[in-house]
Amino acid sequence: MKFATFAERAAEIDAESADLEIVECVTDLLVDAGDEIEVIARFVQGRVFPAWDSTTLDVGPSACYEAIARAAGTNVDADDVEDRLAEIGEIGEVAASYEFGGQQGLGAFTGGSGGDDLTVREVHETLTDLAATEGSGSQDRKVDLLFGLFNRCASEEARYLARLVLSEMRIGVGEGAVRDAIADAFDLPDDRVERALQVSNDYGRIARVAREEGLEGLDAVDLELGRPVQAMLAQAGTVTDVLEEWAEAAVEWKFDGARIQLHHDPDGLEHDPGAIGVSSDARPDDSRATTRAFSRNMEDVTDALPEVVEFAEETLEEPVILDGEVVAVDDAGEPLPFQEVLKRFRRKHDVEKAREDVAVRPVFFDCLHADGEDLLEEPVVDRHDRLESVLRARVGNDVGPEDVDGLSLLWITDDAGQIESIDADALEAGHEGIMLKDPESAYTPGRRGKNWRKRKPDVETLDCVVTGAEWGEGRRATFLGTFELSVRDGDTLETVGKVATGITDEKLAELTDLLEPHVAAEDGQEVTLEPAVVFEVGYEEIQTSPTYSSGYALRFPRFVGVRHDKSPDDAETLERLESLRSS
Ligand code: ATP
Repeated sequence: MKFATFAERAAEIDAESADLEIVECVTDLLVDAGDEIEVIARFVQGRVFPAWDSTTLDVGPSACYEAIARAAGTNVDADDVEDRLAEIGEIGEVAASYEFGGQQGLGAFTGGSGGDDLTVREVHETLTDLAATEGSGSQDRKVDLLFGLFNRCASEEARYLARLVLSEMRIGVGEGAVRDAIADAFDLPDDRVERALQVSNDYGRIARVAREEGLEGLDAVDLELGRPVQAMLAQAGTVTDVLEEWAEAAVEWKFDGARIQLHHDPDGLEHDPGAIGVSSDARPDDSRATTRAFSRNMEDVTDALPEVVEFAEETLEEPVILDGEVVAVDDAGEPLPFQEVLKRFRRKHDVEKAREDVAVRPVFFDCLHADGEDLLEEPVVDRHDRLESVLRARVGNDVGPEDVDGLSLLWITDDAGQIESIDADALEAGHEGIMLKDPESAYTPGRRGKNWRKRKPDVETLDCVVTGAEWGEGRRATFLGTFELSVRDGDTLETVGKVATGITDEKLAELTDLLEPHVAAEDGQEVTLEPAVVFEVGYEEIQTSPTYSSGYALRFPRFVGVRHDKSPDDAETLERLESLRSS
């Protein structure tokens, strides 16, 4: 297809505002796309490379302005382009406002004001060369290549070329529109096109497969080792919601790090995107990497994270795709704040030095592929079992799950108390809280569905007086736990709930030391405490309840800390509880 035709069709789409009409235009474009269907399916979304491919053009606006200026003639310079941009506000419009190729260069031989037979393929090939240009003088070479393209453009072509180069296509075509257009153009069911797109992350390839191989071809598209898929995302939710929606919840710690997707094959990855410009399919197996790690945005972050590569080499024995989090840790292996991970995450230089300052370790919570089998459709629990067995390759079955390196533990429960306790443990261990997952659900790449919930942070916390406690059992028999919480109502204290579980032995010992001197009476395991200590607690909801003397109960109270700076007189009042409930 001529690039002029593509530009004309892009302008038609640009002029549409209704979604249905946009999909119709893209459908027609794909039907007419001919040999260049892969590239066209990407260009129309403003992409040059497939979504799984982290290759970038690495060309800044100024290189683009310079190329436009050179193509526009001797009287124009990059400042002039910038001035027009300041005036007009959009680079496509600026590029379209010049006449190219009339005065100089190639255009002069092709009939004056540009608009020769530049094809979509040529634009794509040139941009691919441009992306592969590295080293000294590469910016000049990139400007030359862009100049060569602009110089052959008529104004509409220049408009969309400039937008494409600067990732500012903005004609209203998102992934959903291309998905619908592929289904409509080749008369295929939406959900099967969607599946193939999720698995391949490649709109161009799926457009071609849909056209040439139909449903059978689409259904045969599998995950490929070395090509990242989009990460499944989470919605905010509460324990109350999920226990109402699901029979049980799969509960995991929510690690405070950065998402990574690990692709590993001991025999070399099927696709090794490591060497830009070299087709991985053409590389011999023994020169392919065995491990690649991708960020949440599918950038290749392998080189920044040698610990992850070492972990994979030391732990894994079969080809796998794992989903997880990379966490920064201190010398004792304790988690550090998320900002510390960021220092490591995209670091390209002096990685070894950075590693000495902040070490990272991976924790995996999902397994998308193992030993030739795609697991996306399998339920969470089965994928987790598979994950555990993959990570046990070297340690075998002699150790408990908590001693399997890199494994995020998972609990299946319908017991709110247990969920609370897992949450408290996670916070205590320095993590963010918990994730709640529907145990039966599949892995849906790129979706922020209801099957994964991140527990909402507490909007409010309350400072409550501790008026009672219980002695623990067994190992915890010498510790006070299950603390009764009260609020003030005039001169009296009224109970609102109990905060119990999950506080570590160390913390319980500390709290016992603090509270024991205030024990006023004992009845079996239960103790009454004189009001002296104030706890800060989070909660999900305030409900009316006959259980407590205040007439209210805190749903899912969480221990946040001791308010050493507050006395019972400064604690929350019943009045405030009522006003929080009605707000
Ligand atoms: P958002 O996804 O809303 O843009 P975000 O990237 O800050 O925001 P959150 O929404 O806070 O992430 O939570 C989801 C993220 O939590 C996941 O993308 C993942 O990186 C991280 N995470 C940590 N532990 C887990 C776990 N056990 N299961 C799933 N995700 C986890």
